[in-house]
Amino acid sequence: MREFDYIIIGGGCAGLSLAYELEIHEKLRDKTLAIIEPRAEYKRDKTWSFWRVIPHSFNDCVKKNWVNFSINIPNKTNFLECKASPYQSIDSGLFYEKINNKLRQNKNISFFNHISEVNTKNSFIFNSVPSIKNNYKNLWQHFCGVEIETQSNFFDEEIFNLMDFECDQRESVHFFYTLPFSKKSALIETTWLSKMNDNSEKDYDRQIKDYIENHLKLQNYKIHYKEQGAIPLFHPLEKKEKNKINIGTAGGMTRLSTGYTFLNIQEHSKYIRENIENITNSRKYCIGAKYQYLDEIFLRVLEKHPEKMPDVFFKMFKSSPKTVIKFLSNKSNFFEDLSIILKMPKLTFIKALFY
Ligand SMILES: Cc1cc2nc3c(=O)[nH]c(=O)nc-3n(C[C@H](O)[C@H](O)[C@H](O)COP(=O)(O)OP(=O)(O)OC[C@H]3O[C@@H](n4cnc5c(N)ncnc54)[C@H](O)[C@@H]3O)c2cc1C
Repeated sequence: MREFDYIIIGGGCAGLSLAYELEIHEKLRDKTLAIIEPRAEYKRDKTWSFWRVIPHSFNDCVKKNWVNFSINIPNKTNFLECKASPYQSIDSGLFYEKINNKLRQNKNISFFNHISEVNTKNSFIFNSVPSIKNNYKNLWQHFCGVEIETQSNFFDEEIFNLMDFECDQRESVHFFYTLPFSKKSALIETTWLSKMNDNSEKDYDRQIKDYIENHLKLQNYKIHYKEQGAIPLFHPLEKKEKNKINIGTAGGMTRLSTGYTFLNIQEHSKYIRENIENITNSRKYCIGAKYQYLDEIFLRVLEKHPEKMPDVFFKMFKSSPKTVIKFLSNKSNFFEDLSIILKMPKLTFIKALFY
């Protein structure tokens, strides 16, 4: 069995981002890399969206940028701007194609379907396969989205809707998310923040149909793409091993209050690339401790008072959008954190410190 300097387990977002980062910075000229990925073919399966608070290598995979967005609760809508950090959506199909085309040009990079096909003994391993115990107490962001095409112009493609809470909450936290790619096409997602022990929330197709036809009042449309997923709002188990680093969701790159992971993965890849020559001794990369702490409190409130969350999110965006975006993207300073905290219902959050 062949030996490699590096092994990446999982050729998804984090595995491919890291391989690409190493490749474009010529860290694989004299080193060998094996990527272990079971999927038989790559096709679009996700739409990664985020506020572009830092540069990244995938501008050519962006489906659309927006500088305006809205958030609404029943009878109230807040219109916001994000000119300083446009919201971007990346088409995973383009991302996989771009990276795989690049990686296949380097003979030092090999692809395998299963870890048993390589000798792991002397390699440094980057693992993106999370170890998640079935624990019904954990919170998840679970969702399903469809990209639809309408017969006539319907959407305002200049503004996306981040959260529409004007929908059935079923004692959880539920909202719709709409990304209009053009006047005739949009990704519409039903999103829940809840435990996963209630399958009654997973009648996604019916929820989406009802939202499109009865809420948006749109009848003539075709669905031409669908994606579904669940993002853990807790960090997967991590066993400390000398020659192994977890990356992606497995490596704690998800911002727990929002599910945003894509840009954190890019920052982690950059950090690994900068330290690759001394990776065994380098410090563990984490999303800032203050965000871990604040998110933990936020999720405690969410768990205890789901009914308050539409209002909490709505109020949060009453701060300057620039500040909220920086906070949600782990780029805020102390004063910006404070301005967000002060927008929260104080008693509820203070009580959450003691749950
Ligand atoms: C549908 C969906 C939409 C999302 N949208 C957003 C978004 O808009 N913005 C955002 O910031 N985040 C988003 N996320 C969260 C996060 O960015 C993604 O989950 C991202 O793909 C995480 O990257 P990853 O590499 O950790 O996991 P993945 O991309 O899932 O990669 C893991 C890889 O491991 C492979 N694998 C599985 N088992 C094995 C095994 N035994 N051995 C080897 N390989 C294995 C899988 O096939 C997969 O390719 C979304 C998540 C989902 C599921």
